[in-house]
Amino acid sequence: MQPSIVAIAKGSDADQLVHQALENLGGIRRFVKKGSVVVIKPNAGHEGAPETAINTSPEVVRAVIREVRLANPRKIILAESSAIGCDTMTCLESSGIKQAAEEAGVDEIRDIKQDKDLVKKEIEHPTSSITSVELPRFLLEADHMINVPIFKSHVSMVFSCALKNLKGVVQDIHHFIMHTTNLASAMMDLGDVFKPDLTIADMIRPMEGFGPHSGTPVEFGAVLASADMVALDATACRLVGLDVDRVEYFAAAREKGLGNFQEERIEIRGADFAEVKKELYLPYLQGFNAWPEYRFHVKMACSTCQGLVAFTMERLKALEAYDKNKGLHIVLGRHAKVPEGVQPGDELILHGDCTLALKKKIEKAGGKCLHVSGCPPVESFPVWTILDRREQPTERSTRERHTAEDEIFRKWLQEKQRK
Ligand code: SF4
Repeated sequence: MQPSIVAIAKGSDADQLVHQALENLGGIRRFVKKGSVVVIKPNAGHEGAPETAINTSPEVVRAVIREVRLANPRKIILAESSAIGCDTMTCLESSGIKQAAEEAGVDEIRDIKQDKDLVKKEIEHPTSSITSVELPRFLLEADHMINVPIFKSHVSMVFSCALKNLKGVVQDIHHFIMHTTNLASAMMDLGDVFKPDLTIADMIRPMEGFGPHSGTPVEFGAVLASADMVALDATACRLVGLDVDRVEYFAAAREKGLGNFQEERIEIRGADFAEVKKELYLPYLQGFNAWPEYRFHVKMACSTCQGLVAFTMERLKALEAYDKNKGLHIVLGRHAKVPEGVQPGDELILHGDCTLALKKKIEKAGGKCLHVSGCPPVESFPVWTILDRREQPTERSTRERHTAEDEIFRKWLQEKQRK
């Protein structure tokens, strides 16, 4: 494999950052031919306003479309398939991406979830249990694909950036299947059958903390660009102080041979690495082992709920309630029966609407449990269910409590990060 190039641009203006990063790779015309069809794939996986950093910032999407226009393509399509349970168009609107894309003159916006014209692609030598995926024909037939992720903390993969953003090129059924296997290896398999020509990553305001949904945006001021997703992801990790040797993703990349992640195989161009580097708080290296005093039963649970449970554990610590509730069993995902190891009388918290059937089963058999409603639940509900030992009312009339606890939590987190 040839060494890879990753361009880094530092600053705050999205137009300038995207332009600078691309110039350092030889300019947009190296990647987009005149008269071509270009698909741009942002991260708009969840509902969330631009300032939350849940999705790619609209400024970066706008800047990428403006830059692509300079190469005179025939058509620019913005395409996304949001997370399970989310409506793609609502996510694109709430994130401001749809409006930004229209302002920049995008020709078409497509919801991949609704696409009926799918092509089955076999995965040669899969490293996960997925052996094929179905991809929209328009995506496969486009001349160029540009991947535009945001960097954020992610409970299932420690972080999410270039490769992880590809999950939004498949429909819900494949999202679901990928979560039932080793996600890092499944992402490698998907990345093997469908490679973007270019990734432009938004690190202007990435997310640290309890991503992908309950994290904290941080001013970072960078855009990265590369034709090699793995090299870009590795560089992004090094910039935020994440040791690539401790992240399963890169072991999976080594097994698959998908790209370069070794420092000596990556040429950095543009801004000075040391000047851009800034450590982010990324708490998922140990997974659920980080809270050994609690028992977690996780089966096919979405990353949003897994992240929310991680957030709940830290929130309990901040509220000095972690030790008092040791020994609780927390169940999330799709369980057909009571998880192994749970005895009658154990205190059981069932997290999210997909555990409702299990709750009914437990209660029918005369057992007890507490259910946290929502898909996903409202951010404070799991904590309150544990603190109050009662199920939460569905109306959201408890803003003051949430705000007060949030203040304690943010201060506690800042203190923890200072140590
Ligand atoms: S409750 Fe959570 S884990 Fe279950 S389907 Fe909804 S988001 Fe996914």
